[in-house]
Amino acid sequence: MQILPGIHHLHVPIPESSLGYLNAYLVKADDGNLLIDTGWNTDEAFGALVRQLGDAGVSLCDLRYIAITHVHPDHYGLAGRLLQHCDAKLVMHEIERPFLRSRYLEYANLLAEVDQWLRINGVPDEDWRDLGYASMPVLELVQVAMPHITVRGGEHLMVGDFDWEVVWTPGHSPGHVCFYESSRRVLVSGDHVLPAITPNISMHTQSMGNPLGDYLVSLQTVAALPVEIVLPSHGEPFRDLHKRVSELRDQIERRRQHVVAAAGEAKTAYQIAAEIPWNTKGVPWLDLPPLHKRAAVFETIAHIERLCAEGVLCKTIKGGTFWYAGKRSV
Ligand SMILES: [Zn+2]
Ligand SMILES: [Zn+2]
Repeated sequence: MQILPGIHHLHVPIPESSLGYLNAYLVKADDGNLLIDTGWNTDEAFGALVRQLGDAGVSLCDLRYIAITHVHPDHYGLAGRLLQHCDAKLVMHEIERPFLRSRYLEYANLLAEVDQWLRINGVPDEDWRDLGYASMPVLELVQVAMPHITVRGGEHLMVGDFDWEVVWTPGHSPGHVCFYESSRRVLVSGDHVLPAITPNISMHTQSMGNPLGDYLVSLQTVAALPVEIVLPSHGEPFRDLHKRVSELRDQIERRRQHVVAAAGEAKTAYQIAAEIPWNTKGVPWLDLPPLHKRAAVFETIAHIERLCAEGVLCKTIKGGTFWYAGKRSV
């Protein structure tokens, strides 16, 4: 479906997910076409993408660039399969590149690291194995291809009279990028800014520094751009970027306060995560699916890391586990 002159919104189905669809965007131009994000590697997603490209008058071999906002499976999983059918150049941030091997090809080390990360953050025995293996089912939904072009932010992808600036927006993923077309005031926001859900900001073994702090800086980065329409990866395109950025900041602040309130005298990240409210549609903590529980623990750690950096919480190490306590009231 063409949503702006030359820009087509493609709905790629995501299996067994409440997200429903991944939004891919096709930018059509006489000198070659740009596809932003791909979907998972399933027959259904591949068929849907090829059919919608066809509806826009584009075949796979007409693609010049496939640009990836970040390498989560719903955005990147289909890239390898698409590249078997075309000579497009695959583009992503250089920080995402090593994740392809460590997450999707040679993942034994990462599994061991995640096991340790769960242990030191207080995940109890009854949850430990399930949380460690929670992401394994997605492996079959990714066909790996290495990028032809890596970026760092600030580069420009030119197709026709479209001039897409790469905007590095670390937080949801360390190498997450948005794509900004200044003359049209269009921002392809990936999972950085979504209209209806708060992106998961996780602290795990492949995070760098303070991902939640980075995310808030990245919100400032996009809020400073003159934007008329935002094209997100999930949900519908929307116009008021500043309002949405403000809502996301408010939600993060509320969760921050919950984390501080839950920390108390000395708790593990797992214990804090189990106490704070999550949007689980009434499902109690103990019954959450392992992937959701793991995402909640990792997001709690991201808050804790920021709060430690701010001096609000302090960390101690006892019995091979990290413990957190409030330093002063906030
Ligand atoms: Zn993502
Ligand atoms: Zn996503």
